[in-house]
Amino acid sequence: MSDCIFCKIIEGEIPSYTIYEDLEFKVILDAFPSGKGHTLILPKKHIENVFDIDDELLSKAHQLAKKVAKAVKDHLGCEGVNILQNNGSCAGQTVFHYHIHIIPRNTDDGMRFGWKTKEMSKEIFEAIKGGIGSHLY
Ligand code: 5GP
Ligand code: ZN
Repeated sequence: MSDCIFCKIIEGEIPSYTIYEDLEFKVILDAFPSGKGHTLILPKKHIENVFDIDDELLSKAHQLAKKVAKAVKDHLGCEGVNILQNNGSCAGQTVFHYHIHIIPRNTDDGMRFGWKTKEMSKEIFEAIKGGIGSHLY
C-alpha cells in the first residue's frame, strides 16, 4: 500500500533496524520504543488488522512472536514480555498495517497497561456470555 509506513519499511524505502526477515515477515525494532528491545512483527502483506488477516498467516505470526519473545528474553535477560496487538484507533492502533508488539518487561519497570474495573451484575455477565458466544457457533 503506497501510503503505509510499514509497507515502505518492508520495501526498504524507509530504513529500519531489522532483526529477522523471511518470505512472509519482517521483524524490526520499534523506532519509538517503550525501552530496549521493543520489537514489531510485520507480515509483508498489507493487512489492516486482526479482522482482515487470514488464519494461516495469523498462526504463523504468533508462532514467530513466540520465537521473538524468547530471543528478546534470552538476549536482554528481562523477566517477561507483553505480546500486544492493537486493532482500531480506539484501541491504540496508530499504524494500520497488522503488527505484533513484543515489549520486554521487568518487575518495577514503571510500565502500566491498565483499565478501571467496572461493576458487572450477574444478569449482564449472563447476557454478554450468551451474546458473544452466539457469534462463535
Ligand atoms: P500501534 O500503536 O499501531 O500498535 O503501533 C505502531 C508502532 O509503530 C508504535 O509503537 C510506533 O512507535 C511504531 N512506529 C511508528 N513509525 C515507525 C517507523 O517509522 N519505524 C519503526 N521502526 N517503528 C515505527
Ligand atoms: Zn502496509
